[in-house]
Amino acid sequence: MAVHDFRSQRVFVEHDLAANSRFEASREQANYLLNVLRIPDGGSILIFNGRDGEWRAEIEAIGRKKCNLKPTELVRKQTAPYSLRYCFAPLKQGRLDYMVQKAVEMGVGVLQPVITQYTQVRSINESRLRANAIEAAEQCGILNIPDIKPIIPLSELVETMGTSNTLVFCDEERPHVSAINKFESKTDLTLLIGPEGGFSDEERTLIQTSPNVARLGLGPRILRADTAAVAALAILQSSIGDWYPSTNC
Ligand code: SAH
Repeated sequence: MAVHDFRSQRVFVEHDLAANSRFEASREQANYLLNVLRIPDGGSILIFNGRDGEWRAEIEAIGRKKCNLKPTELVRKQTAPYSLRYCFAPLKQGRLDYMVQKAVEMGVGVLQPVITQYTQVRSINESRLRANAIEAAEQCGILNIPDIKPIIPLSELVETMGTSNTLVFCDEERPHVSAINKFESKTDLTLLIGPEGGFSDEERTLIQTSPNVARLGLGPRILRADTAAVAALAILQSSIGDWYPSTNC
């Protein structure tokens, strides 16, 4: 049986969801549903808000620019948010858009932007980051929107790493080292990927002061930071993450 109805359109909404309630879709959502997807009055979609599970909802068109959404059936109960935290140095907008969407598809639950010495982009547009996270969540079938944290310096990230956290550190200068199998805990994982300019030696030293650091090499080629994110997340999810739950017990 399919894990999830991948054919139905999914839309993230802020409203509380309960049977036989109804609320007006945003103008953007109404335009997308009525005029882009051309879903007719009475048609149905899937909606979720990150709290109340996923519901099948009926579209009640009000002209061509407005519609109500009427939740009719709870399709999937709400799941707990993912715990995997992904720490990244901001990239130029296009690559950051891509990297955020891929991180969401790969099962990241917390997006933590970090300023490092060679970070070229020193601020992020949080609303654009959230819009990318929502678009990826709608597409990949998850029920939660990752928690997006305010940008912090690398030193603050290292200082706040507790003994229960494992910091997986992708060091472009140690590409052949992988300490995946040394992890004690498979929860409380934090992945750290550096900026276009890589990490400085001072930062390597600082990162090693964290209680539990596991280096993760990504092979003999230097990957762009957005490529490194997908590669590292694939290794983590396939070895100790949620891709093959029956073999990771
Ligand atoms: N200069 C290139 C890549 C910089 S490396 C660019 O312009 O994008 C970006 C980050 O990706 C590094 O800090 C590291 O975290 C990760 N990374 C890239 N290649 C890696 C490798 N072979 N092994 C481990 N980490 C790597």
